[in-house]
Amino acid sequence: MRFDTVLIGGGLSSLVCGILLQREGKKCLMISAGQNALHFSSGAFGLLGCMPDGTPVDAPFEAFSALAPSHPYRKIGRTLCESYADAAVPFFASCGIPLQGFGRRNGFRLTASGSFKRAWLAFQDVPFFSSDDALDGKRALIVTLDGFLDFYPEMLSDGLRRRGVESRCVSVHLSCLDALRGGPGEMRSVGIARILNRETNWKQFGREVRALLDGEDLVIVPEVFGLEDRIVNEWIAEMIPAQVLYVGTMPPSVSGIRVQRLLKNAFIQAGGTFLMGDTACDPEWAPDGTVRCIHTANLGAPGIEADSFVYAGGHLFGRGIESHPDGFSDPVFGLDVVCDADRASWVERGFFQAQPYMGYGIGTDERFRGLKDGRTVENLYVAGAQLAGCNSLQEGSGAGVAVMSAMHIAADILKRTENVGE
Ligand SMILES: Cc1cc2nc3c(=O)[nH]c(=O)nc-3n(C[C@H](O)[C@H](O)[C@H](O)COP(=O)(O)OP(=O)(O)OC[C@H]3O[C@@H](n4cnc5c(N)ncnc54)[C@H](O)[C@@H]3O)c2cc1C
Repeated sequence: MRFDTVLIGGGLSSLVCGILLQREGKKCLMISAGQNALHFSSGAFGLLGCMPDGTPVDAPFEAFSALAPSHPYRKIGRTLCESYADAAVPFFASCGIPLQGFGRRNGFRLTASGSFKRAWLAFQDVPFFSSDDALDGKRALIVTLDGFLDFYPEMLSDGLRRRGVESRCVSVHLSCLDALRGGPGEMRSVGIARILNRETNWKQFGREVRALLDGEDLVIVPEVFGLEDRIVNEWIAEMIPAQVLYVGTMPPSVSGIRVQRLLKNAFIQAGGTFLMGDTACDPEWAPDGTVRCIHTANLGAPGIEADSFVYAGGHLFGRGIESHPDGFSDPVFGLDVVCDADRASWVERGFFQAQPYMGYGIGTDERFRGLKDGRTVENLYVAGAQLAGCNSLQEGSGAGVAVMSAMHIAADILKRTENVGE
């Protein structure tokens, strides 16, 4: 088997890169071991919510120059990052994913605890505002479902009260969920969303909420609608004479799963081959130090050959890097992982402090080609959460790094193959 590009990982960075390449006529294979961070998404993409020292950031691009030179955004450069950011909204729209944002400035996403968090772009139905006082002075009706385990109206209400938003919490009993309620652990967002996908069921919810409304300006409901199609969220909102806000629940994320499916569909529709539930392993190396082919756990021999490989295996969560008592490693290619040698430096004691190990990742050159024993592997790119140089959890830069690095790598691969063809 031979492809132009083999992408390892089925998360945001791999999908963005794969769609861009496949749409330009490159023959791509994507190998995905399992779930990825989109399944746990907040519903918003972070670009740079705060600096490594914790200072909040409102204008991310202006802050790039203060990041370390090893940061992925510094490797790409501000001008190119801005052009990738401009391209991002139409790109996702072309995959059936409308996004909202405030241009070059961060917006504020309402969280399930009633606080506001900075983000770059948000999925269409996520409550996302240009300032964190957008709801001040309003009255809210917070609605949950009887027996729902992963949404906490009182916590949300407390958080909103601290911001001057008064609210009333109610719970709706939908008989269509009785079967789920019977199981001790079944009342989770995705199971509920599957049932509420049926028109009779979401309409019943809309009617019940409309009857409970008592002059409130806002109705806040858990994000358990629109698993297949977000239009359901709009239809429910049309039934209720107030502003309806869909707030994220505990994972898994209904909107994140929808977005992952839409991206995967876009990749396949463009002609890409998606290998689900398989793990890339055992690369074979050419004498010049490039990757010749890769194997997978299920397919075995012969290996899959390609001109270029994009490794987007995620961070510790995706198993793109692994930790051991004596260090961190890349389980597939054995690329160099940038980390502190001294184990005592891996963690900070405070639970809420930025954790150094979250900033460890695979070292690359300026074009995001992986380093092995300090030398660039010419045809092996590294994308997304796996990259060294940023602590995305602390900075709120996860999706930004995933999307920007993916776009940059796709552009590099296309440029390189154009030059070869000249
Ligand atoms: C739980 C969680 C929630 C997050 N929520 C947000 C959010 O709301 N907003 C935000 O901006 N950022 C968020 N992030 C940050 C996140 O890292 C990025 O947003 C981005 O989605 C990362 O995408 P990725 O493709 O680089 O990695 P991942 O999404 O982690 O995907 C990596 C994929 O590679 C696969 N893989 C690994 N090794 C192999 C192999 N050998 N063969 C085949 N497949 C392999 C994994 O199974 C996984 O599917 C979150 C991160 C986590 C961990």
